[in-house]
Amino acid sequence: MQSLKRPDFTARATLKLCVESIRDKDLAARLDAIAPLVDQAESEYLARAAKAEWYKIDATPTVGDLRVDEMKRLYKGTFVKSVGTRNIYDAIKKQPKNDICPLCAQRTVSTLDHYLPQTGHPALVITAVNLVPACQECNKIKLATTADTPNQQTLHPYFDDVDAERWLQATVMEGNPVAIRFSVAPSEKWDEIIACRVERHFKLFDLAALYASHSAVEVEGMRHALQQIALRGHAEAVRDYLKELATSWAQSHRNGWRVATYEALAASDWFCASFASMAMTAS
Ligand SMILES: [Zn+2]
Repeated sequence: MQSLKRPDFTARATLKLCVESIRDKDLAARLDAIAPLVDQAESEYLARAAKAEWYKIDATPTVGDLRVDEMKRLYKGTFVKSVGTRNIYDAIKKQPKNDICPLCAQRTVSTLDHYLPQTGHPALVITAVNLVPACQECNKIKLATTADTPNQQTLHPYFDDVDAERWLQATVMEGNPVAIRFSVAPSEKWDEIIACRVERHFKLFDLAALYASHSAVEVEGMRHALQQIALRGHAEAVRDYLKELATSWAQSHRNGWRVATYEALAASDWFCASFASMAMTAS
């Protein structure tokens, strides 16, 4: 998970822009009337977010006299499409560096995910701090998910920052081909709730499988380069090179799967020795 700067568009201003672009006078008036409720919902959201307690926000079927389906239309038909608000949608969507989904830190962003779902939270459908850039896959996984306890809450890129500590762990599975297994190693500095939430996030988005697949491709692709390094230099050159790669990738994303992969490979005598024996045979 990668943290993002919190968007500073207010829900009230966004709703006003939506209302201005709606031709149906009656609907515009009804939406205008719920502005205080949308404002209030955003305030509660921010207050709960400060304590990572979104799960305490009650689900409701309506906001004022507007139903969930009408609010969903407001999001999809007006907020996403109208000239007045499309720039807000785009600004939120474009926030992640290189368009990488902050939830999986791997696939590319293609949509916005409602952290608290539209169904149950119609007052938050156009609230920017509830809209998180996401890839299609993460968005789909999250759609069917709700949290009833603090530990079940997935990480929120605007409010959680777990990249200060190393928590992604990789283990080399010795075999042919070599495989990497990923897991969460909670930091000692974390409390129990954040440790459980990172674990929950990791499991829900199936990141172990996603990273295992990408790391397998990576290792396969770099095998020839490692062989050349072993042949040119001394046996430990492979280990040094892997360590350098880990250090380099850690500069941009400390808990990226590449960092964990290269570190685990560098620490594996079995893996490094396979290239070392090759260098000895050649000399
Ligand atoms: Zn994703």
